[in-house]
Amino acid sequence: MHLYVHIPFCRVNCSYCNFYFSVNRRHEGRFFDALLAELQERKEEIAGYGPLQTVYLGGGTPSLARREYLEALFEHIRHYFPLADDAEITLEANPDDISRENLRFWKDSGINRLSVGVQSFRERDLKLMRRAHTARQSRQALDWIAGAGFRNVTIDLIYGIPGMSTADWEEQLDIFLSYGFPHLSAYALTVEPDTLLARKVQSGAVTMPGDEVYETQFFLLREKMLQAGYAHYEISNFARPGWHSRHNSAYWEGHPYVGLGPSAHSYDGKDLRWWNKPNLHVYMRGLENGGPYYETEKLSAADLYNEYLMTRLRTGEGVDVREIENRFPDFYRAFVRLAETLEARGDICRRGNRLWICPGALFRSDGIIAEFFVTD
Ligand code: SF4
Repeated sequence: MHLYVHIPFCRVNCSYCNFYFSVNRRHEGRFFDALLAELQERKEEIAGYGPLQTVYLGGGTPSLARREYLEALFEHIRHYFPLADDAEITLEANPDDISRENLRFWKDSGINRLSVGVQSFRERDLKLMRRAHTARQSRQALDWIAGAGFRNVTIDLIYGIPGMSTADWEEQLDIFLSYGFPHLSAYALTVEPDTLLARKVQSGAVTMPGDEVYETQFFLLREKMLQAGYAHYEISNFARPGWHSRHNSAYWEGHPYVGLGPSAHSYDGKDLRWWNKPNLHVYMRGLENGGPYYETEKLSAADLYNEYLMTRLRTGEGVDVREIENRFPDFYRAFVRLAETLEARGDICRRGNRLWICPGALFRSDGIIAEFFVTD
């Protein structure tokens, strides 16, 4: 079983972010009470799936959470559920929360993987994205992490930032590589609706780069990471052998998971998905007074098929044609026909029964995957 915990508080609102978060921390204590209540309310459901293989504290900014709250959370998790001996326990941490003291505390709490929101090593990018930390703080934090003995470390970087040249991006990757950490997540900066960045783009204060810049930077990323010995195991993720994210891989492989906290999603591994409403107050009131704080959805065969393709085709493993035939017989013929067309076009590669998006077409993967989608 894989457990995700969404801790929604942040120091500032980054200009590009469309995750569910709140910069008002007044209700942090009340939120953690609600979170523990949810954990208790759902303990049988979670325990029914067997020992926890991974726990992921995401957000928001979980590294901002006060110690006593994290301690109580881990105490509850350990009390109610068996943890696999080799469980992967990840904390998302922003550089401005990383101190020698916090690192020691997180390590003692059992956290064995850190996902660090560096985003950029350039001050001007950080300003444009309204990050709460400086590049200097990131470098210092990464030095401390290495010194604290955390080996399973991943860093988030963003490319396609206005004003970032391809040479600048290459420098970012060189800095990442100089630390020797085993995992990198690299995302293209996208303009999400209702964000500060969207408003700035709309008003003309910020101009986003053209597609060709994103494409060049994406392929540079891929080339450099492959050369450095990292596998490109998912469209935005690179890992040295054995260091992939087991938690995220569980999502991509369709395993069951439970998400706690506002906006967190859960999936039973079959055809039921549910999610907590993305609203702190609705969430807290729901757990305090028994009000509705989540919604459920029964997935149709078409939903399951589309989701299967959307997650698997984004991975380096791709899809197994026999699995499609067994699990989605109604869509199998259409899949084979389209796959042949795309193979002839050079977008889909094939070895035996396995199909994946060819490296040269990866940049267009969203459009290619959408071609496979079906409706009920
Ligand atoms: S710290 Fe992360 S979750 Fe919070 S606003 Fe910034 S990008 Fe979003």
